[in-house]
Amino acid sequence: MPNLESPLATALSQLRRAIDQLNLSENDWNTLSTPRRVLEVAVPLRRDDGRVEMYKGYRVQYSTTRGPAKGGVRFHQDIDLDETVALAMLMTWKCALTNLPYGGAKGGVAVNPHTLSITENERLTRRYTSEILPLIGPERDIPAPDVGTDERNMAWMMDTYSVNAGYSVPGVVTGKPIVLGGSLGRTSATGDGVAIAVREALKIKGINPEGATVAIQGFGKVGYWAAVALENMGLKVVAVSDVKGGVTGFNKISDLHRYAQENGTLIGAPGTESITNTELLHLPVDVLVPAALADAITESSAVGIRAKIVVEGANAPTTPGGDAILNDKGVLVVPDILANSGGVIVSYFEWVQDKQNYFWSADEVKENLNSILMRSITEVAEHSAAHQVNWRESANMIGVSRVAQAHRLRGLYP
Ligand code: GLU
Repeated sequence: MPNLESPLATALSQLRRAIDQLNLSENDWNTLSTPRRVLEVAVPLRRDDGRVEMYKGYRVQYSTTRGPAKGGVRFHQDIDLDETVALAMLMTWKCALTNLPYGGAKGGVAVNPHTLSITENERLTRRYTSEILPLIGPERDIPAPDVGTDERNMAWMMDTYSVNAGYSVPGVVTGKPIVLGGSLGRTSATGDGVAIAVREALKIKGINPEGATVAIQGFGKVGYWAAVALENMGLKVVAVSDVKGGVTGFNKISDLHRYAQENGTLIGAPGTESITNTELLHLPVDVLVPAALADAITESSAVGIRAKIVVEGANAPTTPGGDAILNDKGVLVVPDILANSGGVIVSYFEWVQDKQNYFWSADEVKENLNSILMRSITEVAEHSAAHQVNWRESANMIGVSRVAQAHRLRGLYP
């Protein structure tokens, strides 16, 4: 049994609740609580100095019922099989909730990418791709960036797959560089989606976005772009953080970003004051955006949260204990599978563009992202009001019921 606060335990307990609330059967629970395909591989890496090291790699296809498996590849020293399964399960409900024609997947390598040179990172990415090669493909399973990977890794993955196929297969991964068949708007998509979710949550709470305050935990692919989009919407980003800690008192996100790029940390940016990650969570802001790793909001850290709205940019940032406290406080929590779905939505656009060899303008991507996300937000809000459940329960119920329905309609083979 996974330990109680692990991401897998959290994901399973949320699934159990959705199954019960939907009055689904034990057959449904058995089917939906089991990953379809799990692969663990050894990834050998020749370091630049000649040493050979072994890393563990994973690819989990949690579901392929509604379409090919889909989900990111994470390079992080703490990733293990249980967490990969949990994240692949979340991708399944996320794709179903947003009505993308995908199942759900996740992969990763248990490595700290910051300890690798670029050439080492390339060799590791290519060897990992080669180890999971039989599982992936544009019709089977389409990887994308996640924590610790970016468009450069996707270019190497696309190349490794294509070299083996004997021709270019851009649709095997999403989140690629534009010149290799990537989509305009993919880099900022998750953050843009988070900002749309914040905008809609503020409307529901009757708070004017102009001057509303927000604190963002995480200043990576999600947190940074969310900060930019929220600033453009007129909100005041009062604090951001990275693994080393956070800062307040800055003026513009672009200045802070430049400082972080040059110095590898936010700490010490001119005119700012340092705060800890826990202090950031407890600031008296309108909106809190956890956009780093899992388990940021726990039973102990939730007690001090003063935000009226929490928008989950990260995957699984809130434990069940933390969630219960936020609920008791009346905080509106926009759950991860809704709030951070902008990334996979624009990944879907990228895959469609690659299939058609026809590429969209940035405006088309933006408009379509907004309309798919708005449809999902409206569905979650209406379902939540109609069934007297919170947004997380509502989102899980919609996603899980779509996968259960697809299972029923396809039937059980043989
Ligand atoms: N890694 C992102 C997520 O967790 C994006 C996945 C994708 O684009 O396939 O949603």
